[in-house]
Amino acid sequence: MQSIRPPARPLATPVAPMIDPFGRHVSYLRVSVTDRCDFRCVYCMSEHMTFLPKKDLLSLEELDRLCSAFVAKGVKKLRITGGEPLVRKNILWLFKALSRHLETGALQELTLTTNGSQLPKYAADLKALGVERINISLDTLQPDRFKAITRWGDFAQVLAGLEAAEKAGLKVKLNAVALKGVNEDEIEALVRFAHGRGADITFIETMPLGDIDGDRTSQYLPLSVVRARLMETLTLDEIAYRTGGPARYVQVKETGGRIGFITPMTHNFCESCNRVRLTCTGTLYMCLGQDDAADLRAPLRASLDDAPLSAAIDEAIGRKPKGHDFIIDRRTKRPSVQRHMSVTGG
Ligand code: SAM
Ligand code: SF4
Repeated sequence: MQSIRPPARPLATPVAPMIDPFGRHVSYLRVSVTDRCDFRCVYCMSEHMTFLPKKDLLSLEELDRLCSAFVAKGVKKLRITGGEPLVRKNILWLFKALSRHLETGALQELTLTTNGSQLPKYAADLKALGVERINISLDTLQPDRFKAITRWGDFAQVLAGLEAAEKAGLKVKLNAVALKGVNEDEIEALVRFAHGRGADITFIETMPLGDIDGDRTSQYLPLSVVRARLMETLTLDEIAYRTGGPARYVQVKETGGRIGFITPMTHNFCESCNRVRLTCTGTLYMCLGQDDAADLRAPLRASLDDAPLSAAIDEAIGRKPKGHDFIIDRRTKRPSVQRHMSVTGG
């Protein structure tokens, strides 16, 4: 494990919980710790992405302080994501620092979403630092197809990452983006693969976030279609199971495993939204599908006292919108939100 310094600051005194104007309790923070990635998935990025200058990034100490301010305000679940979170230098320091909130009980879950490529290196350390469950993104089981989707990824490396996670005792959930004409013939195979390993799997519809090289309208596959096809061969029972995220789950009678469906395009899941998203530059997005944002870097840097930061967070939560209105414009083929998922954090 890399050298891990003690956390920079103690946890701030608990303050009032974050309730938005629609009465929703914000208890889940997703943090994109870098917009960089070792893959170039076709639905996520263009091959030649321009990334943020490194000097604009918050330091790990600043990210810790920001996350800790949210924990003090009632965040119970923290998901580290990106870009690829495990390519950020010395990332274990942040996990170590944040794990103190697990020890105090202030935080219930510290987790991450990863493409899996760095898990052979990090899985055991993550488990030792209190991470229990992780999401690994996997859209196909075919090495050639994997290369075509991720452009730079290597299927064998991700499989080794998945095995390392299992060996370390991490509970894995697989995430797969349903892509028309790309992996739609593999949906059942992905379900059987996940369930055969004791993992749940969640399918996601492509969302129109940021410019990519191709045409998004040709990638979009409604999960209603995916679900109907699965029902031709499998028995899907509706269940109340939730993980605090936006997925709705069914249980498969034949395998005993669960399938989650995240349907931002076909079904508006905003009414129960408990999340906000922080970027690696300290910008807070109150909704994945809206442009409104709050700058938390300025109040963070303006004072060593957390009071201005806490006030800025309250002001931002007071602006959390009722919901998103994603559209993929067939006429202009333009995304409805210009920033990429890797910036806001998936
Ligand atoms: N690099 C990590 C990974 O791939 O798991 C974490 C970040 S990635 C942005 C998080 C998730 O967002 C992945 O499961 C990815 O498939 C998904 N994703 C990326 N762009 C998307 C888009 N435009 N629509 C839907 N899902 C997307
Ligand atoms: Fe990287 Fe994840 Fe985006 Fe793929 S989906 S390019 S792995 S950030």
